[in-house]
Amino acid sequence: MYPWGDERRFNSYNRFLRQRFGGRIQKLTLDAGFTCPNRDGTVSRGGCAYCCNDAFNPAYCVPDKSVRQQLDEGIRFHHRPGTEPAGYFAYFQTFSNTYAPLPRLKSLYEEALSHPGVCGLVIATRPDCINTPLLDYLQELQKRIFVTLEIGMESCRDATLRRINRGHDVACAVRAIEQTSEHHIPVGTHLIFGLPGERPEHWMADLALINHLPLHSIKFHQLQIIKGTAMEEEYHQHPDDFFPLPFDTYVPFIADYVERLSPDIVIERFAAEVPPRFLAAPGWGGIRYDRVVHAIEAELERRESWQGRFGQ
Ligand code: SF4
Repeated sequence: MYPWGDERRFNSYNRFLRQRFGGRIQKLTLDAGFTCPNRDGTVSRGGCAYCCNDAFNPAYCVPDKSVRQQLDEGIRFHHRPGTEPAGYFAYFQTFSNTYAPLPRLKSLYEEALSHPGVCGLVIATRPDCINTPLLDYLQELQKRIFVTLEIGMESCRDATLRRINRGHDVACAVRAIEQTSEHHIPVGTHLIFGLPGERPEHWMADLALINHLPLHSIKFHQLQIIKGTAMEEEYHQHPDDFFPLPFDTYVPFIADYVERLSPDIVIERFAAEVPPRFLAAPGWGGIRYDRVVHAIEAELERRESWQGRFGQ
């Protein structure tokens, strides 16, 4: 038994959900019609160099349907006879889901929470779309329902954030994560491994920062270069600046990373999975996510190792 309370070699999000909600929770992705300050001209017009939200949205998820309708269709979309979840999370995922006046945010979040199957909110956003009135409201909301914020960091390096046109720096992300945690709201982040100019030794060095942040959960993505993005163009122009990780390299790298990651941080994802028709590079030959997880667990087992074994 590991410190997080089960036999898996990493602190898994599924374990957290089972302990908190008594069973599996299905996330229902929503597109509530938000935009993003990095696309509408407030911060920038280009958006992040890799951005393509279409690659992540399920078909039912379109903003001209109400939140309620998307939830109902999402439940049908994910329905598998005999595997009913213990509940659903309304996952405000597309673009920046705190980027609107507070009354509009409240109305959208409340619409999701009024669905009888929904037992939590997951709100994905940018670090520069966090403010105190919003956090005060979510702190209150948290008293009656599970709420978590996902604040994208993507990289722990300012030079990288500038190069991919993120429109904020590392200090902004750190501040947003700390403020959210100070409001007692569980906060997650995601990191992309493979951004231009970065190498595995950078990601390992940056673990010191990650381990010191008050993070509840984390998602890892291998860089996936989506067709038609600014990053695809850059990749063709400067391929040597990129360090895309093939599957066989990614698995031992993630095992090294997990061995040094704080055991208190719940791991929600190890890799991204974009439909192959969107992908310009690198291809993993159609390997599905469950095989990625299996390979990482097998690697930890082969090493007789676990999350946080070599704490920083
Ligand atoms: S912050 Fe998110 S939605 Fe906005 S441009 Fe970047 S990746 Fe796209």
